[in-house]
Amino acid sequence: MGTYLSRMAYLLYKRSVSLDYEVRGLINYKLSCCVNALLQSFSATTELLDILNRWHPSDGIDKNNVPLQLKNTLEAMRDKSYPAPHKDFLNCLYRQAIQRFTQQDADEIFHIILSLSKKQIADAALAQEISSLYEIKVETQVGCLNCKFIQRMPNSLFSLPLAICKRENSLESCINSFFQPQMLTDSEVVYCDKCEKKQPSTYVVKLVSLPPILCVHLKRFRNDEGFTRKLYEKVTFPETFSTAIFAAGQSENADCLKANEDYSLYAVVVHMGTITSGHYTAFISSNQGWYYADDSCVQPSTWTDVQGTYGGYHQRYRETAYLLLYRKNCRNSSG
Ligand SMILES: [Zn+2]
Repeated sequence: MGTYLSRMAYLLYKRSVSLDYEVRGLINYKLSCCVNALLQSFSATTELLDILNRWHPSDGIDKNNVPLQLKNTLEAMRDKSYPAPHKDFLNCLYRQAIQRFTQQDADEIFHIILSLSKKQIADAALAQEISSLYEIKVETQVGCLNCKFIQRMPNSLFSLPLAICKRENSLESCINSFFQPQMLTDSEVVYCDKCEKKQPSTYVVKLVSLPPILCVHLKRFRNDEGFTRKLYEKVTFPETFSTAIFAAGQSENADCLKANEDYSLYAVVVHMGTITSGHYTAFISSNQGWYYADDSCVQPSTWTDVQGTYGGYHQRYRETAYLLLYRKNCRNSSG
């Protein structure tokens, strides 16, 4: 029953938000599959284009301005008369932030694009709107086991970095692990301001607030002593979830974690292959349903296909979800 109701709420929500655009393919330039997949997710984030469209810089042709080139690209992606709408944006990134002809980490590039957009938009109010759209606010608490003093450090994240701990994982189990307290002892002891010396401590991250667009980063690339490997473990995730799954991680300073707010999945950035020989694609949800974008090739898809990116060692090297983009569902006043 609950599943049926959340599905109904999701369908009603999809009808109320403007997701009515056609997903279009993007040619792969100099191994640009990672940026291509991210552009598909940014294009599906109509809220971002709404912010960028309210910005009218006097110099409309600055080739090195990331938010300007992003805005031009997202507009051009909606017009099929542009054969390569993302070429200027790619060159802009290549000139100042990323290397060509190399394997990229989609989470890293996602952060670079949003950080440079905030920095270069030259409009403090719009920069704040980009932050408010994506930033997850957390509080790191380090508690001294000797005097019980708790040091609190506020922080904000563009994506929620979830470690993959077990052979079989779910989004909820990864979230619970993220907010699990840890003991810092032996070589990890932390300086306590009250005791004025290093003391065994507890370390915990608490959630303060969730943004309208929640990016979840499934940490599939693990660095062990300088050697990076890919984790193929299974991580299941739902098409919609209630914020109740964050209840255990909530800070006592949480300002707006209302019970039973829902989030719906609308884009998945997918990595396939290995760490050295990989490829990025994206699943995008629009009013017409799910689409699969593999560079210039776009085809209709299904939620069952999206579920095929859960991973697992039996399907090693196949597509594995890497970034999950969820949107907070609007509630009307009667809901
Ligand atoms: Zn202390």
